[in-house]
Amino acid sequence: MWWAKVNPEPKRILLLAGTMEARELAMRLADWPNLFVVASLAGAVSRPAVLPVTTRTGGFGGVDGLVGFLRNEKIDVLLDVTHPFAAQMKAHVDQASMVAGIKVAHVIRPAWIAEKADTWLCVRSLEEAVSSLPANCRPFLSIGRREIGLFTGRPDIHPVARMIDPPDETSRSDSVTILLSHPQAHEAAERELFVKHAITHLVTKNSGGSKSRAKILAARSLSIPVIMVDRPPPPAALILETIEAAETWLRSVLDN
Ligand code: NAP
Repeated sequence: MWWAKVNPEPKRILLLAGTMEARELAMRLADWPNLFVVASLAGAVSRPAVLPVTTRTGGFGGVDGLVGFLRNEKIDVLLDVTHPFAAQMKAHVDQASMVAGIKVAHVIRPAWIAEKADTWLCVRSLEEAVSSLPANCRPFLSIGRREIGLFTGRPDIHPVARMIDPPDETSRSDSVTILLSHPQAHEAAERELFVKHAITHLVTKNSGGSKSRAKILAARSLSIPVIMVDRPPPPAALILETIEAAETWLRSVLDN
């Protein structure tokens, strides 16, 4: 008897996006044969980069919502490539993948590490960062837009905050200068910005990665102290540090 050769059903991946690494992985996976990738964005930024795979936007509705999505969409593998500080999403990923019985990994880039010439004060939260700043200082805030309001309770300091989208009405204050822009790629440009605004401190989350590292180098060369917010505790499931490691892991789980 003659049998027609039939391609197996494509494997289905949910890629939780919102980072440069997620964008890069989406580009690479778009070329993989027999794979269906759906990327998910939180909807946190107004004009996210377009991904070359099917993309949905918005929260799932907690762990139950995510379990429902994994089941309805018949997802085989869940890859979390959200920001190192997106702790709630990571916890939901661990719980939902366990309930749904789905293979899972987190891709989390390594944290930055202080070097000899750096002056870092490592803190556990932005609240701690706020209270550690001395009176009359002019800190550069590189913390996104949502938590800027924490600093408006310190009228004795004069922050300059850089963010991509403007803050909500409630977080705005005359005491904070807002710069709407992406991080600059070059140390010299960040140095120039710090000098122009007479910056005395840098406040940043330990996001890691190369995209926003130039500010760390600029602070180092200008001997500006850094208030570094440590990462939240790591999630429980497998953690991979690079896109390449994620591709290798994906190949191995898709082959089995
Ligand atoms: P979070 O506190 O861990 O997540 C809050 C909620 O947002 C989650 O419970 C989930 O809602 C929804 N969510 C987060 N990421 C999602 C995704 N990729 N697709 C669908 N829903 C998502 O995280 P966050 O700090 O709000 O970050 C939100 C997004 O912004 C993430 O994708 C992250 O990569 C990106 N981001 C965060 C930071 C940061 O510093 N936190 C910086 C840069 C970029 P439900 O519970 O309803 O599912």
